[in-house]
Amino acid sequence: MPRYDYRCRTCGATFELNRPMSQANAPTVCPSGHDDVAKLMSMVAVTGTAGGAAQPQAGGGGGGCCGGGCCG
Ligand SMILES: [Zn+2]
Repeated sequence: MPRYDYRCRTCGATFELNRPMSQANAPTVCPSGHDDVAKLMSMVAVTGTAGGAAQPQAGGGGGGCCGGGCCG
């Protein structure tokens, strides 16, 4: 079961809850009983990687096929 981090807007307390994904955004209360609680982005929820990193393209001129005689 994924764990989510929450922060109470009333007293500033942060706490964690283990709950099903379907309940991730369900209302909850902080340990002090306040119900104005915001869900924090947790590293648990990170899937995949943010794209955009330019990866150097290998090849384009060397060895391989044309060096081996298969294309001429
Ligand atoms: Zn609170």
